[in-house]
Amino acid sequence: MSTFQDLGLNDDLLQAITDLGFTKPSEVQAKAIPILLESETDLVALAQTGTGKTAAFGFPMLQKIDIDSRTTQGLILSPTRELCLQITNEMKLYGKYCKGLNVVAVYGGSSITDQAREIKRGAQIIVATPGRMKDMISRRLVDISKIQYSVLDEADEMLNMGFKEDITDILSHTPEDKNTWLFSATMPREVATIAKKFMKNPQEITVGNKNESTSNVSHEYYLVNSRDRYSALKRLADANPDIFSVIFCRTKRDTQKVAEQLIEDGYSAGALHGDLSQNQRDLVMKSFRNQQIQMLVATDVAARGIDVDDITHVINYQLPDEIETYTHRSGRTGRAGKTGVSMVIVSKSEVRKIKSIERIINKAFEKKEIPDGMEICEVQLMSLANKIHNTEINHEIDKYLTSINELFADSTKDELIKKFFSVEFTRFYNYYQKSKNLNIAEGSFDRESGRDGGRDFGGKSDSTRYFINVGSKDGFDWMKLKDFLKEILELGRDDVFKVEVKESFSFFNTENELKEKVLAFFTDFKHEGRFVNVEESQNRGGGGRRDGKRSGGRRDDKRGGGRRDDKNGGSGNRSERRRSEGSSKPRRSGSDSNSDKSRRSDSGSRPSVARRSRR
Ligand code: ADP
Ligand code: MG
Repeated sequence: MSTFQDLGLNDDLLQAITDLGFTKPSEVQAKAIPILLESETDLVALAQTGTGKTAAFGFPMLQKIDIDSRTTQGLILSPTRELCLQITNEMKLYGKYCKGLNVVAVYGGSSITDQAREIKRGAQIIVATPGRMKDMISRRLVDISKIQYSVLDEADEMLNMGFKEDITDILSHTPEDKNTWLFSATMPREVATIAKKFMKNPQEITVGNKNESTSNVSHEYYLVNSRDRYSALKRLADANPDIFSVIFCRTKRDTQKVAEQLIEDGYSAGALHGDLSQNQRDLVMKSFRNQQIQMLVATDVAARGIDVDDITHVINYQLPDEIETYTHRSGRTGRAGKTGVSMVIVSKSEVRKIKSIERIINKAFEKKEIPDGMEICEVQLMSLANKIHNTEINHEIDKYLTSINELFADSTKDELIKKFFSVEFTRFYNYYQKSKNLNIAEGSFDRESGRDGGRDFGGKSDSTRYFINVGSKDGFDWMKLKDFLKEILELGRDDVFKVEVKESFSFFNTENELKEKVLAFFTDFKHEGRFVNVEESQNRGGGGRRDGKRSGGRRDDKRGGGRRDDKNGGSGNRSERRRSEGSSKPRRSGSDSNSDKSRRSDSGSRPSVARRSRR
């Protein structure tokens, strides 16, 4: 195995490496560093998170730039503020013996003039997020026309986050003959496209299989009805008393709701997403790092910068839109030689995605069962027993011992143990004794939609069809309506389908999974000054539930325009009308499945356990 000396690094860097305690190069470092040092080349490097990519581009960049010059020669683009700061820090550590080195971080949410001032003092290397960098360029606060090395770090994430245009724009201000080094954990098509567009004959290195996840992570999935998702999450947490986890949701809204619900239910949880202020995010991350928070509920974007080593579980509360993102999520655990578990809670309509993920990560998932109530009680009991067994005696108690002994004079040791444990156990027991089985069998009849599969269209069974009171006279065609819905509901690219636009109203589908969210969103949504009304449709077009039992019952014709009897005719429309006469019960507004307690199987707070700090 090579050493850092063998790779050709200079003494200043080797000294810093010794200080950092790095003894031997990681695989991506061993492969990338010699290539980058020896030749002026473009490079595409694929390696998992946590494999040491920062040093793989950082050391060569530090060695190659001219530190005596104050010109900006290196530009590193990374997706988030957290990563940007992390990379800047690392670069400063790597270059601590490079006298005169100035590395400046450029990111949003912090004073642009301060950052510009730092750059003006002469920054050989700038580490930036694309948005702020573009901003700085357009305000002429930075000159990157002499860049020799540009790095696209976490390229897949930057593209996922929609930075493609910003990156294109930024790179257009850099010289043609610079070298570009692209680092990414996964290689979706967008990354390949960008590599082709910006790079000339890049050398390629791959560490492990493309997109493969770290080998010390095991992957499990749990099949439940989507209305039981939250209960399932709580059980997974209760069945793992020492859990220290990141829970991934798809949207900021869900992230916030799940975190709030967990806190309300007595868990030590926190939310991390882009709608929080920087200060709030820093606070949450601090508590998480200190392990005061056991469950961090996060969006993919916000979690990108998390480099916490002891995470025991990653829980996919919802699967990501882009299944490649799964690799990033699961890579949050199993770091630094530890083992970890990545759990996925799936509903029947998504279970097919597990197969696609298996192909990407090149590993099999294990289908597991959500533990039943009694299993959880047992786990909790034994965990408590172990804790007590390992507890050091506090001799301050000695002086009260006489009185305590008097109280228990007539109890045997057995009785005493039983009573002692009952204090905790009874709480869990009472909570879980009547709990139901949350698991559903694969290929079983789907209680959710009342149908078992469906051939309605392209595999999109288990979907709900909606009526919406906007149409072509409001300027929508099917594509515009689809984009509009995706945007306001924060949905992924395939989440809205079967969009059918009529003159004054339209129809569309989503998977049943999203129904609560869609209906809740439109309880008082205004577009261009008027209320937009969405209801579950009985129209057969989309294969939704037809008995109307759980349909959205709120209806107020005065609110919006749109006669609904237009040219649609047919049986679908008749049932549409019948239902609208108000047979169904109004649903609670402004809620989603997480807060809809009435339907939850493990409802209410869990038995209150003392909040546990793991330290
Ligand atoms: P990536 O960008 O691939 O996710 P990082 O560059 O953030 O990974 O590195 C992950 C962690 O590993 C960091 O804490 C870093 O300091 C450490 N690290 C990097 N290279 C080495 C090495 N050769 N030996 C030991 N630790 C290393
Ligand atoms: Mg990195």
